[in-house]
Amino acid sequence: MLSVADAQRLVLEKARPLPAVVVELGADALGLILAEDVASDLDMPPYDKALMDGFSVRSADLSSGQKTLRIIEEVTAGQTPRLPVGQGEATRIMTGAPLPSGADAVVQSERTRLLSDKRVAIEQESVRPELNIVRRGREMQRGQVVLAAGTRLRPQELGILATVGRTFVRAYPPPRVAVVSTGDELVDASQQPGPGQIRNGNGPMLLAQARRAGGTPVARGIAHDTRESLRTLIKQGLRENVLVLSGGVSAGKLDLVPEVLHDLGVQPHFHKIEMKPGKPVFFGSRGDTLVFGLPGNPVSALVCFELFVRPAIRRLRNETSPMAAVVSAVLGADFTYRTDRPTYYPARLTQDRDGRWQVAPVSWSGSGDLLPLTRANALMIVPAGEHRYFAGNHMDALPLETTD
Ligand code: AMP
Ligand code: MG
Repeated sequence: MLSVADAQRLVLEKARPLPAVVVELGADALGLILAEDVASDLDMPPYDKALMDGFSVRSADLSSGQKTLRIIEEVTAGQTPRLPVGQGEATRIMTGAPLPSGADAVVQSERTRLLSDKRVAIEQESVRPELNIVRRGREMQRGQVVLAAGTRLRPQELGILATVGRTFVRAYPPPRVAVVSTGDELVDASQQPGPGQIRNGNGPMLLAQARRAGGTPVARGIAHDTRESLRTLIKQGLRENVLVLSGGVSAGKLDLVPEVLHDLGVQPHFHKIEMKPGKPVFFGSRGDTLVFGLPGNPVSALVCFELFVRPAIRRLRNETSPMAAVVSAVLGADFTYRTDRPTYYPARLTQDRDGRWQVAPVSWSGSGDLLPLTRANALMIVPAGEHRYFAGNHMDALPLETTD
């Protein structure tokens, strides 16, 4: 049987970054990866700029002992100075305003005393040239590449794009991820289940996982365990970049998903992985659409999404490291467990004051038991075998809540 690592490699091989598109600068651009180099269209600051509220002066005036200057003008941010600062003169200036010619320093207000509308006493001992000013082009220069292709657009990058006048940029779009739940027993969350029925918990869960992984979720509802019903929803889902199904991939009589996918031209890449929970997981593709058939048990679905679908979505977005990083954590208490397959065990991961990871498995009864996951934020990876681990042992754990 295929290992998780080999299966993940296969998924990443099939997942190619989506063609870049033009996106408008705004909240929707947040988190996308830039597909072009962006150059500045101006010098920044665009003029010699005051860094403090105060008086722009000629530093030479003050070194020669002159302590009282004549105020010739006042310049606030957004205005431009009209008068050059001559000997014995000062211009009152606000933070961000352009420095008048002749001046080469700004003395902050707190170090001055206003004698009248027209006169100011400078109380700062030594005023060196360049004090409290930043020269034109100091931060960036016109034509300079300020953001390189491959950069993730965080708030500060959006700020820079606006600064250089880019309201549209080329970036890799979020993949559209269709989610289809399958099973005759399923009813919508809004319904009261009848005999033999359960609510569709996986649908909202997988849609949320798709969004958190950086996809655009597309809810496609519930398919019955019939070829016709599956065909209809699968065909719709195949129009998206990624199709995620839950249920119907095991060996049961009504597990028709792989067969219907095959009939619709989906090429299978794997079906069954050496792991627990989630062994029957299916992965295939048709054209550029990636298709994941996750087992119906909620924890299996959640774990398989994190291990296989999330990296695929991140690769489609052209993220540089699509795989979540596994951390090595110290086990908080003894843990005895026997398993025939590598197991992704729901666990609580915390960092102590020195930054060391600590892990504690939560009480959990298997792949159908989703509630303990509400107390978990990680999966502790337990190799196959019969184990008796002790507090203080190191365990690998996969965080479920990475935010980058
Ligand atoms: P299956 O993989 O279709 O054999 O389903 C395995 C188990 O998961 C069964 O007990 C199903 O009732 C349950 N299950 C399947 N789909 C869902 C779903 N969307 N929400 C919650 N449980 C589900
Ligand atoms: Mg089923």
